[in-house]
Amino acid sequence: MAADTVFGKIVSGEIPAEILVETDRVIAFPDIAPQAPVHVLVIPKTSEYANVTELAAGDPELLSEMVAVAKQIADERANGEYRLIFNNGESAGQTVFHVHAHVLAGNLEERSLGGS
Ligand code: AMP
Repeated sequence: MAADTVFGKIVSGEIPAEILVETDRVIAFPDIAPQAPVHVLVIPKTSEYANVTELAAGDPELLSEMVAVAKQIADERANGEYRLIFNNGESAGQTVFHVHAHVLAGNLEERSLGGS
């Protein structure tokens, strides 16, 4: 079980966020410090999984649902194309240990992971 985190508090309503998409098991809301024209976080409501490795092993269907929500965000807010980032572990840049996908879209200027 992931420790209580800021994202657990967003799920419970203790910390406010603008919910852009909500399904039975997933929510999406804007990142508070956006790194791209579209920067949305997609998280499961459950706090059971700290990172995507745990989620993929424990509930692959939930991971698949998160990807579908990411695509919906990209369709609604960009041209349907998007970059999906999961930071896994502190040394990889993870700061919140409730699994989350960063959905980046729009005119992405950061090219280190691809593009030309
Ligand atoms: P990571 O570094 O992959 O764990 O990503 C955590 C992300 O959560 C960062 O991009 C933060 O800007 C974002 N974040 C932290 N607190 C909030 C919040 N209250 N609402 C929205 N995004 C947040």
